[in-house]
Amino acid sequence: MAASMASQAILRGLRGASTRYLFLEKSKLGRVNPRRWLNLQEYQSKKLMQESGVTVQRFFVADNAPDALEAAKRLNAKEIVLKAQILAGGRGKGVFDSGLKGGVHLTKDPAVVGDLASRMLGYNLTTKQTPKEGVKVKTVMVAEALDITRETYFAILMDRACNGPVMVGSPQGGVDIEEVAASTPELIFKEVIDIFEGVQDDQAVRMAANLGFKGPLERQAADQIKRLYDLFLKVDATQVEVNPLGETPEGQVVCFDAKINFDDNAEFRQKDVFAMDDMTESDPTETEAAKYDLKYIGLDGNIACFVNGAGLAMATCDIIDLHGGKPANFLDLGGGVQENQVYQAFKLLTADPKVEAILVNIFGGIVNCAIIANGITKACRELELKVPLVVRLEGTNVQEAKRILSESGLPITSASNLDDAARKAVASIRK
Ligand code: ADP
Ligand code: MG
Repeated sequence: MAASMASQAILRGLRGASTRYLFLEKSKLGRVNPRRWLNLQEYQSKKLMQESGVTVQRFFVADNAPDALEAAKRLNAKEIVLKAQILAGGRGKGVFDSGLKGGVHLTKDPAVVGDLASRMLGYNLTTKQTPKEGVKVKTVMVAEALDITRETYFAILMDRACNGPVMVGSPQGGVDIEEVAASTPELIFKEVIDIFEGVQDDQAVRMAANLGFKGPLERQAADQIKRLYDLFLKVDATQVEVNPLGETPEGQVVCFDAKINFDDNAEFRQKDVFAMDDMTESDPTETEAAKYDLKYIGLDGNIACFVNGAGLAMATCDIIDLHGGKPANFLDLGGGVQENQVYQAFKLLTADPKVEAILVNIFGGIVNCAIIANGITKACRELELKVPLVVRLEGTNVQEAKRILSESGLPITSASNLDDAARKAVASIRK
């Protein structure tokens, strides 16, 4: 699942669900970089937090029920919290396909942890941030539970509108933060950080006060805020979100949940962080495409789009939509493409059972259209293409490309321009 920036929505006071969709779609369509936006599991983020002196509760991780039970006993805590690890929020209010309700369970009896874990591990957890079918849980976190007297929301994110990092916080944190942002935007506080100066003491204290921390807790929260900012810089994060940042009856400020996203452009200097990525929740087609330097984005329609460049991809999706069709995906070839990549691209597109037609829309600038045409004809023959194929090629070496296609004897519909191509692709399904 692509990472959605819920914190961005909260910053703008927008309701979570609709904006999540918006951000997801925008980031999907607007992405020019083939690599993903790295997202780690909560327990991995918390390890990084611990290393930066941020207060988190003691925890173990387990990938099977007996280990979870063992961890619960070893914690020797008054109360235990068992948390399913998936790359999505809203777990507390989520539902498993095992019937178990809630991806976050509190218990005073360590003996039940094994049973609870066995109803989480291997099952799909659906939350308001996951796809309908949910996400399979492969790891659980077994942590010491603490009483929480108050839940606040705190995040640091890179914000385009502020030209740099910004802190966002609310005294009304917890599971309904999106609702708070939408209905009571005055309870969302913001501090713009000067990237050269870092978080100033007065900013950290003001944020802590706005979050409602009082007395000695205010200083403690300000200190946690500064440490979180240090971590944000150190790991090249694009977002560090803590919801809830809570306080305990014993007077401790604790990060109870953690979500960190990382800047993919910093991978070269964040090798340890990126090595934690287990890829288990990545779309397998996207991962496979990346192997051949292709960018694949899955959508929900039935017309596969084979294009070069993110701009052309968006235009193609729009025009298909305009003619009453729906794109099933788009696969961006990029520049400097080789025949084998074209073949691999077709293989990926045709493997998707939703695909009922393929629309090729290539504008050859750096790309040589003849290479594309050769790749297409080879793929059509070897993969025994069963769905209609509409091809629109323009640019470098296009005459040669058209000759290759027409002499191939294959049932390829050629189109003269983008509009014609989209119309023909949509019509090919209606027949
Ligand atoms: P999510 O945001 O995915 O729902 P959270 O980690 O925020 O998951 O957990 C949901 C809720 O569970 C929190 O808002 C908090 O009320 C409770 N909770 C989480 N961790 C603990 C903990 N260590 N001790 C006590 N309660 C917790
Ligand atoms: Mg949370």
